[in-house]
Parts: sequence; structure tokens; C-alpha cells
Amino acid sequence: MISLRAIERVFQVGDQAVHALRGIDLDIGAGEYVSLMGPSGSGKSTLLNIIGLLDRASAGSYRLDGADVTALSDEQQARVRRDKIGFVFQFFHLVARLSAQQNVELPMLLAGIPAGERNRRSSALLERYGLAERAHHKPEQLSGGQRQRVAIARATALQPPVLLADEPTGNLDRASGQEVVGILEALHATGTTLIVVTHDPALGARAHRRLRMVDGRIEQDVRG
Ligand code: ADP
Ligand code: MG
Repeated sequence: MISLRAIERVFQVGDQAVHALRGIDLDIGAGEYVSLMGPSGSGKSTLLNIIGLLDRASAGSYRLDGADVTALSDEQQARVRRDKIGFVFQFFHLVARLSAQQNVELPMLLAGIPAGERNRRSSALLERYGLAERAHHKPEQLSGGQRQRVAIARATALQPPVLLADEPTGNLDRASGQEVVGILEALHATGTTLIVVTHDPALGARAHRRLRMVDGRIEQDVRG
């Protein structure tokens, strides 16, 4: 469902060109569980951002569900992103002035889902992730693990087929990290394609397919 060919990403920093991705060829099928590891600066986040349509490649092509998304306008890409991709970040990226429930409802609001339905769905998600009592709390009133569970509820509110997580446990204590991994894996078990960037070898090893990046290239691709 994800098909990358000859992807390059060059960042221009002043008069210097930083070559973050160098000739990435990658196919990921529907329902896979993939981990992406490698040293800091090797291009993991850049690759995930391109897959998640948060960034554009400098060269190469990207097909998602058979459709070439490389040439779409920003607006068209935003629509594809909304329908197909959920994104979870290391630092949660919740909206500080909104409650947990409002954060979860945000993508549904942007998708034009009516208030009653938004409320019903967000309540069910908060309940499922053990956050019912925290629905009206602001992010700053929540623990890291709670914030990440809100972020996952938000990322999955529109039931995207693909879930991307960039170091989702990187800012959590061990117990909260395990809870978050449990939620991500439960989503994978119900059919979601899951791609997780991590520094944690134990987490990386849980995936059914393990990619290792070095210097903007995929150096290892191991299954089983
Ligand atoms: P990783 O997630 O593996 O740590 P990144 O994808 O964040 O690596 O970064 C890969 C390389 O691209 C690094 O050299 C980084 O400094 C550079 N880079 C990433 N994002 C930007 C940006 N927005 N502007 C300039 N350079 C960037
Ligand atoms: Mg990174």
C-alpha cells in the first residue's frame, strides 16, 4: 500500500545542502508492523514525515494505495492524510488550550462530523484508553502516558488504515511506554498498518519487519 521509489530529501541550510534521504526504495504492505531504527540523524523522522505526507521528497515517487501522491497539491495531500494516516509524535503535539476530549474531536471537527457523533466517538475512545475521568483535563494536567493515549485516540479517531509513530515511547517512563505499545499493537492486531520509529531495541524487535537506517539509506530490512 506504501510504495517509495528513489526518494531523496535534501534540506537547504544556509549555503549547505543536508542530504537526509538517499535513494529510498521501500514497499510496505497493508497490515504490516514495521519498526524503523538507526542512529540519530540517519533520516528516520524525515522518512516517516514523507510517508505521512507531512513533508515532500526532493525527488522520487510515492504511491499510496496505488495512487501517486507525489504530485498532489498541499490541499489534496491534506485530504489523503486525513483519510488514510494517523500520526503519533514523541512530544504528543496536543493542542494546549483544548481538553483531552476536544483534542480527540479535532480531526472529526475538521472532517465535518456532526457534534453528537463527535461526542459519542470521542467518549468511546477516551473510555477505551482509560481516560474517561480525564476527558475535561487540559494536556498540562495529564501525565505523559495519558497525553500519549490522548494523542493516539486523536490519531485514530477517523480510523486511518495507516498509523505512524515517531519515538512514541521516547518521552515516557517504562510502564507508560508499555501501555502505549500495547495500544499500538492492539490497533495493528485489528488491521492497522503500523510503522514505529524507535531507539528502544526491545520495542524495535517486537515488530514483524525491522528496518535499519544509516546515513539516509535503508541498510537492513529483516522479516520474521
Ligand atoms: P533521525 O530522525 O533519524 O534522527 P532526521 O530525519 O530527523 O533523523 O534527520 C536526518 C538529517 O536531516 C539530519 O542531518 C538532520 O539534521 C537533517 N534535517 C532534518 N530535518 C531538517 C530540517 N527541517 N532542516 C534542516 N535539516 C534537517
Ligand atoms: Mg527523529
